[in-house]
Amino acid sequence: MSNWEAGDPYTIQVQYVKMVGPRRAEQLARLKLFTLHDLLYHFPREYLDRSQLRSPFDLSSGDNVTVLGRVLSCQENRTRKNLTITKAALEGDRGVFYAVWFNRLHLKKALKPGTQLYISGKLKRNFGHLEVQVQDYEIITGEGDAIHAGRIVPVYHTTSGITQRMLRTFMHAALEQWQHSYREFLPSQVLEQVGLMALPEALKQVHFPDSHALAEQARRRFIFEELFLFQLQLALLRHQIVRVEKQHRYGPDSRLTRQYLAGLKFTLTTAQSRVVGEIMADMASLHPMNRLLQGDVGSGKTVVAVLTLLKAVENGMQGALMAPTEVLAEQHYLAMDNALAPLGVRVALFSGGLPARERRALLEQLAAGEVAIAVGTQALLHEDVVFKKLAVVVIDEQHRFGVRQRGILQKKGVYPDLLIMTATPIPRTLSMTVYGDLDVSVIDALPPGRQPVRTYFVAPEELPRVFTFVAQQVSKGHQAYVVCPLVEESEKVDLQAAVDLYEQLAVGALHRCRVALLHGRMKRADKEVIMQQFRAGRLDVLVSTTVIEVGVDVPNASVMVIVDADRFGLAQLHQLRGRVGRGAEQAHCILAARLRSREAAERIKAMKTSQDGFYLAEKDLQIRGPGDMAGVRQSGLPEFRLANLLRDRELLREARRQARALISADPDFRTGEYHLLRLALERFNQEGSSYLHIG
Ligand code: ADP
Ligand code: MG
Repeated sequence: MSNWEAGDPYTIQVQYVKMVGPRRAEQLARLKLFTLHDLLYHFPREYLDRSQLRSPFDLSSGDNVTVLGRVLSCQENRTRKNLTITKAALEGDRGVFYAVWFNRLHLKKALKPGTQLYISGKLKRNFGHLEVQVQDYEIITGEGDAIHAGRIVPVYHTTSGITQRMLRTFMHAALEQWQHSYREFLPSQVLEQVGLMALPEALKQVHFPDSHALAEQARRRFIFEELFLFQLQLALLRHQIVRVEKQHRYGPDSRLTRQYLAGLKFTLTTAQSRVVGEIMADMASLHPMNRLLQGDVGSGKTVVAVLTLLKAVENGMQGALMAPTEVLAEQHYLAMDNALAPLGVRVALFSGGLPARERRALLEQLAAGEVAIAVGTQALLHEDVVFKKLAVVVIDEQHRFGVRQRGILQKKGVYPDLLIMTATPIPRTLSMTVYGDLDVSVIDALPPGRQPVRTYFVAPEELPRVFTFVAQQVSKGHQAYVVCPLVEESEKVDLQAAVDLYEQLAVGALHRCRVALLHGRMKRADKEVIMQQFRAGRLDVLVSTTVIEVGVDVPNASVMVIVDADRFGLAQLHQLRGRVGRGAEQAHCILAARLRSREAAERIKAMKTSQDGFYLAEKDLQIRGPGDMAGVRQSGLPEFRLANLLRDRELLREARRQARALISADPDFRTGEYHLLRLALERFNQEGSSYLHIG
C-alpha cells in the first residue's frame, strides 16, 4: 500500500518532474539527485534577498539591487570579441533606467515592449545614467509565484550544465506538483513540543521562503528531523541490545589475566584499573557490553584491550581485535603474540595479504576454536569469518566506526561484548550525544614518568639544522620519525615529495643513519619488513607519510619531525606527536611550516601550549568554526545534510530526549501514528551513505 497520494517521492524518478526530462536527469545524477525526494531534500546552500524592491533612483553605484521595470525598447549588439550585449531601456517608478545582459542570445525576443520584469544585479551610476548589470531576472507573467527575483531566492550547490535558474525551476515545479502529497511523519506531540514547522510547509519555505524568519524555521525543522532520526536509530539499537540476553557467561577464573599482568613491566595506573573494573562489570552482566573507551594518545588503552580479550579466552571463548590500518593490526598481533604465546594463547593475524591457502587454514582453526584471538582490520567483519564462540570484540582507534557497522557485528547473531577504543578528538559533551547508545569510560591520566613532549616550531629554512639535531639524537641511540603530509594516498605530488625528502636525507644530513621510507602505496610485505626493523631498532629514522598516524607504538622513538605541519589538522598533529614520548626519555616534536593563514598559526600555537587531546579537540573546533564540514569529518563526528553537531547542540539534545522518550514508551512503534515514522527511519537507514555518513 502506498502512503503517498501522488506516488512515492522516494521512488519517483527525477526526470518525471516537470521541465526535467532524461537529459537533465543525467546531469542531476551527478549531484546524486535521482528521485523526487532527493531533489526536494537538496536544500539551498544560501539565499539571496531579492524581496526588497527599491527604486533604482535611490541606490548608489556598486549596490546589489532588485528592481522592477517595464520594457520600453531593447537592442542586441555584438562586440568584436564576439560578446553579445543585450541592453533594454526600462521604465521605472521615477524615470528610465537600463538593464544589461551579457551573452544571452535570443533574450531580446522575450523582452518585447511592455513586458514587466524583476531584475537583480549590480547597479552602475554614471552622470544620472542608471544601468543594472543583470545577474538574474524574472518576467512577470501574472501566473504563479515569482521564482528568480522579487523574492528571497534560493542558491544551490550545483554542477556544470545545471544553472541556478534551472534548479530553481525544477524545485518550483516539483513543489507545485508534490508538496501536498508529502505527509508529516514526525509524531504530532514532537512537532508541538519542539515547535516545528510541518513538513509540506517546511518544504515550501526552505526552498522559497516568504521571509528570512520562515526560512530559518523551515531549516530548523529539517535539522531536527535529521538529528531525531539519528537519535532514534541510536535509541533503538541501544534498546535492542539492552534487551538481549547474552548466550555466553564468564566465570570468576582469572588465571590468564593474572599471568599476563604479572608479565608486564609496569603496573596499571589507577585510571586503567578503574576502567578495567567497569569493563569487567559490564561483561558479568546478562546483557552485552556496549562501551566506548576514551583515552588520550599514549594513555595505555592496549593493555585494557588485552585484558578484555583474555577474559573471554580464560573462559574458553574467543575474542576479536579490529584496527583501522594494517600497520596497526600487525603491531597488535606481534605484541600480543609475544606476550600471550607463552601463556598458551593462540593469536592469529588475518591480514589482507594472506595467501588464500593460509587464510583458509586460519579460518578453519578459528571456526574450530583453536585460534583464541583474531586480529585484523575491518575485513574481520567479512561473512566468511566465523568463530566457534565469539564473546568479545574490541575495536581500536575507530571513532569513525559507524552505527551501521556496529549493527553488522551484533547481527552476526552472537551479540558479543563490544569495546570501542578511541583517542577521539571529540569534546566530551558531544560524545555523549553522538555515541548515545554506548556507555563511556575514560582513561584520564597518562602512565607515570612521562615527560611532556618538547614542541618547537621552525620555518622550513631551518630544517637542515633540525636534521642535524635528528642525527645527534640518533647517535645517542634514539629513533626518529620524519612525517610528510599526504592527505590522500592517491596524491602523486605529495608522494613524490616524501620520496624526494627521503633520498635527500639518506645521502645528506642523515647519511650516517639507517633511514627508510614508508608510505601507504608500498607493498604490504615491504611495509611489514620496515616496521619490524624499526621496532627492533635496526632502523634509526623512518621517513613516512601519515600511515603511522594512529596507534604505532615504538617507545624508543623520541623525535618527531613534521614537515609542512600547516597542512595537518590539529587532531592529526596531536596523534602524530603521540608517537613519541612513550618512553622515559625526553621527547621532541618539531613542527616545520610556513604559516600562511591565521588558522595555521593558531593550530601551531595550540600544539605548543597543550598536550591534552580533549583540550586540543575543543580548540580545533573553535579554530575551524562550526561551519567547517571538513573539520567535522576529521573529528569523526557523523555528517548530516543540514545539521551541524556543534552549532546545533541544543537541538541535538532535544532530539535525543524526544527519541529516547518515544522508544521507551513504544519501542516497537505499535502506535498507528508511528507508521510513517517507521518508514522514514528505514529510509534513513538505507540511505545511510548519502544521508548520513558515519564510518
Ligand atoms: P594508546 O592509549 O595510545 O593506545 P598504548 O596502549 O599504545 O597507548 O600505550 C602507550 C605506551 O605506554 C606503551 O608503550 C605501553 O606499553 C605503555 N604503558 C601502558 N600502560 C602503562 C602503565 N600503566 N605504566 C607504564 N607504561 C604503560
Ligand atoms: Mg593505541
